[in-house]
Amino acid sequence: MTVTARPTPPELSFAGGFDPYVVRDDFPILSTTVNGKPLVYLDSASTSQKPNVVIEAVDTFYREYNANVHRGIYTIGERSTAAYERARATVARFINAPDAHEVVFTRNATEAINLVAYSWGRRNVNRGDAVILTEMEHHANLVPWQLLAQERDGDLEFIPITDDGLLRLDVFEVLLRLKPKLVAFTHVSNTLGTINLVAEMTEMAHAAGALVLIDGAQAVPHVPVDVQAIGADFYAFSGHKMLGPTGSGALWARRELLEAMPPFLAGGEMIREVHLRRSDFNDIPWKFEAGTPDIAAAIGFGAAAEYLMTLGMDRVREHERELTAYALDTLASELPWLELYGPMHADLRGGVVPFNVPGVHPHDVAQVLDRYGIAVRAGHHCTMPLHERLDLAATARASFNVYSVREDVDALIEGLREVVKLFGEPVR
Ligand code: PMP
Repeated sequence: MTVTARPTPPELSFAGGFDPYVVRDDFPILSTTVNGKPLVYLDSASTSQKPNVVIEAVDTFYREYNANVHRGIYTIGERSTAAYERARATVARFINAPDAHEVVFTRNATEAINLVAYSWGRRNVNRGDAVILTEMEHHANLVPWQLLAQERDGDLEFIPITDDGLLRLDVFEVLLRLKPKLVAFTHVSNTLGTINLVAEMTEMAHAAGALVLIDGAQAVPHVPVDVQAIGADFYAFSGHKMLGPTGSGALWARRELLEAMPPFLAGGEMIREVHLRRSDFNDIPWKFEAGTPDIAAAIGFGAAAEYLMTLGMDRVREHERELTAYALDTLASELPWLELYGPMHADLRGGVVPFNVPGVHPHDVAQVLDRYGIAVRAGHHCTMPLHERLDLAATARASFNVYSVREDVDALIEGLREVVKLFGEPVR
């Protein structure tokens, strides 16, 4: 791997303001070509691209101090342990967690949610107990609860959505009369972009005696997240969607909950003392980090959090809000036949724009766009029940990140014009 030397935070040249064109220089992949065209990456909701500081952090780990953590009493082992724990502290600071030990490293958001479903869920959800979810959940915040409900004979209830993709909080209020054990919902929808009223919903759930898990996979990369201000009990997210390496994710939970929860996976690292017939477990968070973790990914995750904090999450949100407004306006005015879904006001949504070209399958749309170097996702985006609710077989989706610019939206519009040249002008 060739890695060019780059300034690292806090010396980044945009420190005083947010310039996405300067930010783009930090992402080497954005200067590559695909099918002879410059890459237009509009699939950041699946996974984000990585800045040089993250690539370098991973590269330096493997080149200079690769060693297991919490084991070796030798210099590079101590260095890797320190870097791993420093990354945890940085990620904790990024979400304003009160204590770095409340952050458990996982492979992704899916593992973080499964950890809670297996460990907390199997202890606390009993026959007839309700868990409330929403109709807009990603499968990662749906299937673990289905398995739990089947195993424990629990009950799943769902907050419905309006046709433009907002949660029906009036129905939530009624569902809370069931006295659920847990309410689990996404902070930002990966399909519609809807930004949910997480603090208000948490307060409502707590007033009914329920704990709250928030799936923050699509929130942490795009909006300022303060877990203390939100007040939730569990907050799950992915590092790889917030500019970190694949294999990085985290669960934040309140200390007393983590301390009371039994281990999720068992083996090395998560124990204090092992006898042939029983063991004592390690303190949090290591009790939940069995085996050798993805050390390089965690260190890269910390570098990504540091990078985003230097950009400033308020500025990141403002940039993406402005770009989403531009996308919604120009897509609707330039391509009047295009079907757009989700809340139509950028204040209510993150940088996720789902669409359909009437009469053309989204897979065909994505394939034609790819010829022009434009990467969008097509399919059900792991939200099959949401697509069913909206009576859609599939959608295409453009999604943004810090490095996305108006020219990406313009390229998408030109690409969609090529789609209709091939398949014929649709009528709405
Ligand atoms: N929740 C949401 C809202 C998501 O968008 C995703 C990823 N698409 C996930 C959970 C799962 O994330 P991961 O693949 O990192 O486990």
